[in-house]
Amino acid sequence: MKSNNENNKHNGSNEHQKAIDFLEKRCNCGCSSRIPKEQFAELRESFQALSKSEQDIFLMAQLKAMDGGSTSTSRRLKKKTRSNKRTFYHWDHNTLLCQETYLNMLGIGRTYFENIRNHLINNGLLPRIHGNIKRIPQ
Ligand SMILES: [Zn+2]
Repeated sequence: MKSNNENNKHNGSNEHQKAIDFLEKRCNCGCSSRIPKEQFAELRESFQALSKSEQDIFLMAQLKAMDGGSTSTSRRLKKKTRSNKRTFYHWDHNTLLCQETYLNMLGIGRTYFENIRNHLINNGLLPRIHGNIKRIPQ
């Protein structure tokens, strides 16, 4: 017999439900309506079950693949280091997503996403240092 207090189950199911909730609410552009709900929710659940550094690497790999190059909108502003990175968010090769849907697909916040993107731009595909591991500079 299962106990009654399983409403919440484990954390993963929560993420699953949040993903479903998002799809039902829909994003602004409507791209989320083209995504298979179950797969979307499962991806989020799996991603959330990863360790922090695994999540970092997964996201970096995705960003690498989704990189659309940078747009040089203005040559006069060349000095500005703030690059206009274009990212094409994907569900699969044929289905583009908006950023809102993409972030919900993984259950991550924009701040975390931007941190990883900056890390990737500045350091390349390297693990971020978590905690107090010290590295001796070369
Ligand atoms: Zn959308």
